[in-house]
Amino acid sequence: MQQAHAPISAIFLDLDGTLYIEERWLPGAVDTVRWLMKRNLPIRFITNTTRRSRQQLQRRFQKQHLDVPSNWFFTPARAASRWFHQQEAPRGILALVHPDVLEDLQDLPLASSDSVDFVLVGDMDEAWNLHALNQGLRALLNGAKLVALQRNRRWLAHEGYRLDAGAFVAALEYGSGVRCEMVFGKPSPIFFRMALLDVGAAPERVLMVGDDVESDVLAAQRCGMRGALVKTGKFRPETLAAAASPVDVVLEDIGQLSQWFRTQAGSLGHSPSAGHRDDRSPHGS
Ligand SMILES: [Mg+2]
Repeated sequence: MQQAHAPISAIFLDLDGTLYIEERWLPGAVDTVRWLMKRNLPIRFITNTTRRSRQQLQRRFQKQHLDVPSNWFFTPARAASRWFHQQEAPRGILALVHPDVLEDLQDLPLASSDSVDFVLVGDMDEAWNLHALNQGLRALLNGAKLVALQRNRRWLAHEGYRLDAGAFVAALEYGSGVRCEMVFGKPSPIFFRMALLDVGAAPERVLMVGDDVESDVLAAQRCGMRGALVKTGKFRPETLAAAASPVDVVLEDIGQLSQWFRTQAGSLGHSPSAGHRDDRSPHGS
């Protein structure tokens, strides 16, 4: 039996592997963003980057003549900022993050030593140093809580692997005995909840599109959104076959998104009867 869906009223798009791979934009990606913008569909570009500010991401779009506001980019730093604003007035946050990301945290009470009640760890990359780690250590020993933008072990740079934020979170946990209690990046439900708050949409009205079965698609579906997997970027047939639960929609690439919307007649905010759970179209799963 087919189950009716609420029409989609906002869209979340992953960046790496979905719209582009490194410097190369994927087929249909620019046209799809333009198509969505013409329909005034609220968009958030949902990315786990902890090394680039929203302004830097915005400039990348401008090079493709896509004039999108910087607040359409939703990063772990933005999720952290929204989350901190929900907490009872934090006195001070020690942000051990990439220098470029600091501008996305400017609305927070950032502190370097006194009255720190949260240590926020991101990827400082070349800016990591023992002084910064020891500042974090002392704040934790003085009772601050440990939270992180992400906790990946390593990342692949041009010259080879480099330690990522998770390795430094582990160092701080080991040194202080304090456990990291929150991670803001995908697939954290906090990340998606803060993004939903940012766009002001109910989860069932949002479609999340990405190339990562687990972190993009299933994580969004677990938060009540609809998920669409693109077969680009990190997509591998075996990871889809091994997925813990069914994916709502599978698309060859992002260029097929407008076609999918058309097959969901009325799903851009009109007919509540549009779209069906078994619509793994247009290319099946
Ligand atoms: Mg991706």
